[in-house]
Amino acid sequence: DIDLELVQLRKVYPGGTVAVEGFDLRVKRGEFISFVGPSGCGKTTTLRMIAGLESISSGDLLIRNRNFTDVPAEKRPTATIFQNYAIFPHMTVWENVAFGLRVRKLPSAEIKRRVDAIIDKLELGSVAGAKEGALAGGQKQRLALARGLVTEPDILLLDEPLGALDANLRKSIQEELKLLQRNLGLTFVFVTHAQSEALSMGDRVVVMNAGKVEQISAPFELYTRP
Ligand code: ADP
Ligand code: ADP
Repeated sequence: DIDLELVQLRKVYPGGTVAVEGFDLRVKRGEFISFVGPSGCGKTTTLRMIAGLESISSGDLLIRNRNFTDVPAEKRPTATIFQNYAIFPHMTVWENVAFGLRVRKLPSAEIKRRVDAIIDKLELGSVAGAKEGALAGGQKQRLALARGLVTEPDILLLDEPLGALDANLRKSIQEELKLLQRNLGLTFVFVTHAQSEALSMGDRVVVMNAGKVEQISAPFELYTRP
């Protein structure tokens, strides 16, 4: 089953910069895809086009065989985790997780059920009533994940989510992400400029350069390339 399909995706920013062109990709359900490449090569722009946060100049975006090219972000079955986590500092952990469901106008009993379940799953129960300022780094990371997962997305999009973490924490979050992939069968698109991270996390790695896909390979194929 193909979860995500990009066909000749292209992005030209209003100033004329061609940020992405000729991007073709098919991602299987439950696959972990990493995008890697130097700063400015178009990774974030591609992720934002998948999320619906950036318009698509030409080409097509399909999720589970439905065309989402012109569908607004809030109607896409994707959730995005940003590098800075984008946690609302004036809200509690619980309210931060509930926010995306309130925006979607779910009934409050349903909101409570889903928020409690995901807070439990990500072991945030002890800080449910706390605000961002009181959270440790790993708790912020798990809150960002909880906010995405509570919307029950088909595809989780992660933009350099580990950049701000120390080495130990990064390792444990990496393991947590792989567990989520295994347990939920969730499809991941993971953007990083760190090649080692792309290789260790990805089932396949998309290597980008100057707005184009240079190669798409399994990690071992990249390791053994002469
Ligand atoms: P990466 O995520 O790989 O660092 P980006 O997708 O952020 O790359 O950027 C790709 C190209 O698009 C770069 O040349 C960047 O300067 C340009 N770019 C990114 N965002 C904008 C924007 N909002 N307006 C104009 N150009 C942009
Ligand atoms: P703490 O454990 O830090 O005292 P809370 O009192 O905020 O945290 O949360 C205890 C439980 O109450 C949570 O697990 C959750 O089930 C529920 N809860 C917390 N905030 C809300 C809210 N705004 N709306 C509904 N239920 C909430």
